[in-house]
Amino acid sequence: MLKRDFLRQGLLVIVGVLVGPAALARISANDRPRGEARPQPPAPGPFSLPPLPYGFAALEPHLDARTMEIHHDAHHKTYVSRLNEAVAGKPEEKMTLEQLLATASRQPDTIRNNAGGHYNHSLFWLLLTAQGGGPATGGLAAAIIRDFGSFDRFKADFTQAAMGRFGSGWAWLSLDPTGRLFVSNTPNQDNPLMDLPGIRRGAPVLGLDVWEHAYYLKYQNKRPEYVAAFWNVVNWPQANHRFEAALKG
Ligand code: MN
Repeated sequence: MLKRDFLRQGLLVIVGVLVGPAALARISANDRPRGEARPQPPAPGPFSLPPLPYGFAALEPHLDARTMEIHHDAHHKTYVSRLNEAVAGKPEEKMTLEQLLATASRQPDTIRNNAGGHYNHSLFWLLLTAQGGGPATGGLAAAIIRDFGSFDRFKADFTQAAMGRFGSGWAWLSLDPTGRLFVSNTPNQDNPLMDLPGIRRGAPVLGLDVWEHAYYLKYQNKRPEYVAAFWNVVNWPQANHRFEAALKG
């Protein structure tokens, strides 16, 4: 053994004694490379859990690694499993996620809630990035100024939608069928693609999960701090991509 390795191993032992195996296990879990040591997959069926497009710790300090891990590997996975179980052996098994959402008013709660949960979280992961924040970009930036007056006005409206949703739900920026942007919020796992009373329909461009499971470990009951942190990790190029795609229909 090289002297350098010997010293390094000795140091690791000392660190291990000082911080304990649980803390070391937690550090190594946070550093787990993408795709390695995956947890059990969701229940089999037409829908699958997309991998998180970055490491659990990528959005620190704004969104903490432990929350990201539980949110993706446990919460999102459960929506996928429950959705697969709910459509098994039914005509809905052959429907796309978008078709299930567009017919939510005719679906049982288990399909409505879990199809929404799967769609919303799949979207949410893509709309976050470590290189995020700042103002909107591209055609979306211009459309925000056109429809809200200013980026700051939009941000205030969206923040109010996120804060004004009592209990669990989502805040949204969407494009309506006439090509105008609007801000809304929805309860539980509902979203603007659903044909439900009380939901203003449109194509979601940006979404924010305001369920406590999205922020409680780091922010406890302080939803305003979580919403403020969200603006630092918004993936505006991805939101703009969704906006451009929605415009084309
Ligand atoms: Mn969630």
